[in-house]
Amino acid sequence: MAAPLAADGPVVIIGAGQAGTLAAEALRSGGHAGPITLLGDEPHGPYHRPPLSKGWLAGEIGEAQLMLRVPEMLAKKGITLRTGTRAVAIDREARQVRLADGSSLPYAGLVLATGAAPRTLALPGADASNVLPLRSRDDASRMAAALARCAEKQLPVVVIGGGFIGLEVAATARKKGLSVTVLEAGPRLLGRVLAPMLSDWFADLHRGHGVELVLQSRIEHIVAEGGEAVAVQLVDGRRLPCGLVVLGVGVSANDALARAAGLACEQGIVVDACARTSDPLIVAAGDNTARRLADGSLLRLESVHNATEQAKSAAAALLGQERPFTATPWFWSDQYERKLQMAGLSGGADAWALRGELGGAAFSVFHYRAGRLVAVDSVNDAKVHLLARKLLEAGVSPAPEQVADAGFDLASLLAR
Ligand code: FAD
Ligand code: NAP
Repeated sequence: MAAPLAADGPVVIIGAGQAGTLAAEALRSGGHAGPITLLGDEPHGPYHRPPLSKGWLAGEIGEAQLMLRVPEMLAKKGITLRTGTRAVAIDREARQVRLADGSSLPYAGLVLATGAAPRTLALPGADASNVLPLRSRDDASRMAAALARCAEKQLPVVVIGGGFIGLEVAATARKKGLSVTVLEAGPRLLGRVLAPMLSDWFADLHRGHGVELVLQSRIEHIVAEGGEAVAVQLVDGRRLPCGLVVLGVGVSANDALARAAGLACEQGIVVDACARTSDPLIVAAGDNTARRLADGSLLRLESVHNATEQAKSAAAALLGQERPFTATPWFWSDQYERKLQMAGLSGGADAWALRGELGGAAFSVFHYRAGRLVAVDSVNDAKVHLLARKLLEAGVSPAPEQVADAGFDLASLLAR
């Protein structure tokens, strides 16, 4: 495959997060000799997002552990990091990226790594100053200050959304001794990813730590006084007083630049397995993409693993190499003393098998769709998680009876 990019051509990367930073490094290590400019609209250099709802928000980890790469490290690799710099348009004909300050940067190859933005709620009162999303480091600073204020004034926290953000923030707030209510619109927690038995177990875990859970909640409005939320009013008449409302109701892909430039977009920037967009000079990676699968459907993943692997595929594509990202997806979440690790995609699962004892020190739930293993969720069970990744990668589907039999060596299925 011919490289779409001349060896000394300039590459511009929009978005200095997980995918953008990894793409820059992969281009350099892959042999690209031309200038590489990494544009980030945040004031900070690249940092890890996962701790923002966990150790960073809890005040347990410091600056050094949060940083993904220090700017000096990037400079050593000849990567020019420009923080506080927002790209506002892509001119595909002139091959230029326009910046918010009116200047333009020419490109021979362009990487779109713009991530995703938190969804908002179209509810009266949702614009109050203490109704906060959590995506960026600055969001986390605002949330940490709001949690401290709630602790000082003994005000409760209301979390909207029983997904990853909502539950991780709830766990962190409980660690700080705050009173927390989680409102989930669906009938169970993490309903799109977990097996029903594991959703129920997570609900018990949170209740056991003192969280009030309202499933199938319907919010009427947020009661604001002087621009500040003081309560959340539910349709069933309940009014939940609060000093902070955490918004964790999902994200939307940041694909506006790509759309305006005429690239194919559908729930995100449409890419193939090699992270190529509909323009051969432009690749995209991370939370802003929707990957077209062989059967024509689109897959949107929002995870560190996806951003990292797609970034490597994107860099390879610009260098003229085929590096399809087809590996089994995996994710993790930390809540209280429990580490949840998920391998595979559980959508459409219709049967489940449990390995270990639900709620025991370590256990895993295996998801089956039409009789085949499609995903495994492990709780404090790293060994089974790693094994599950290998089973899924190899297309090996243990029988549910083998999974449930603690004496059966699942690894032996791989050796065959
Ligand atoms: P981002 O990391 O969001 O980076 C995109 C960057 O592009 C941002 O800095 C954005 O400001 C910038 N940008 C956007 N538009 C422009 C523009 N026009 N010009 C310049 N810059 C622009 N995943 C896991 O797998 N495990 C976890 O435990 C986990 N925990 C998480 C906890 C939190 C609080 C959050 C928010 C996410 C978590 N995730 C987790 C998800 C994971 O962090 C994301 O999937 C990953 O960061 C996606 O990387 P990305 O590079 O696509 O996007
Ligand atoms: P999410 O995981 O998609 O969860 C959003 C949750 O909010 C869903 O359970 C959803 O229910 C619920 N919801 C939607 N509208 C609601 C409403 N009006 N009232 C009450 N509940 C409502 O998204 P997120 O938790 O906001 O996380 C945002 C992003 O960060 C995602 O990309 C996520 O992957 C990432 N993240 C990942 C991790 C991790 O992997 N450990 C941790 C934190 C964040 P329905 O499903 O029924 O719509």
